[in-house]
Amino acid sequence: MRAEKDSVVSFHYSVRDAASAAGEPLDDSRQRGQPMLALLGHSQLVPGVEKALTGREPGETFEIDVAPEEAYGERQEGLLQRVPKKYFQDAQRLKPGMTTVLQTKDGGQRLVTVHKVGMSSIDVDHNHPLAGKTLHFAIEVVEVRAAAPEELQHGHAHPGDGHH
Ligand code: ZN
Repeated sequence: MRAEKDSVVSFHYSVRDAASAAGEPLDDSRQRGQPMLALLGHSQLVPGVEKALTGREPGETFEIDVAPEEAYGERQEGLLQRVPKKYFQDAQRLKPGMTTVLQTKDGGQRLVTVHKVGMSSIDVDHNHPLAGKTLHFAIEVVEVRAAAPEELQHGHAHPGDGHH
C-alpha cells in the first residue's frame, strides 16, 4: 500500500546539513540498526519529511532537501539562558557546541546546545540544534501498513512487539 494519513511507515534515513553535503551525517538510522517508525498525519515527523513520505511505497528510495520552515524552524535570537552547573548531569565534560539534556523545573527535559561554559554556570541556547538549517535527507521506505486503532488513539506508531 501507499503511505497516506494514518499509515504507519517504517523507513531508514540519513540526514545531513545541506550546506555541507560531503560531511558526516548528523543522524543515520542504519547506525542505530532500527528503521524509524512513524504514524503519518500526527506530527511525529518534521512536516517536510512527512509530506515527502506521503504516496510512497515500500522499497522506494529518494533524497530531499527540507528548508528550515519545513524542518526545525528558523533560529531565534534571545533564546540564550544562563543556568547553574548543578542542573546538568554532565557539566564537567560540556564544551561549546555540544548538545545536552537540561532538567527543567517542572520535571521535564529539554535538549539544549552549550553556548559558553563559565566557572559556575553554563550559557545554553534553547534553539533546536538543527534550527535554521536546510537538511538533506536520504530515505528508504521499508514498510507501510494501516495503523491499528490503538495507535490512532495514542497518536503514535507502536513497534511490532508493542510498547505498553
Ligand atoms: Zn502508545
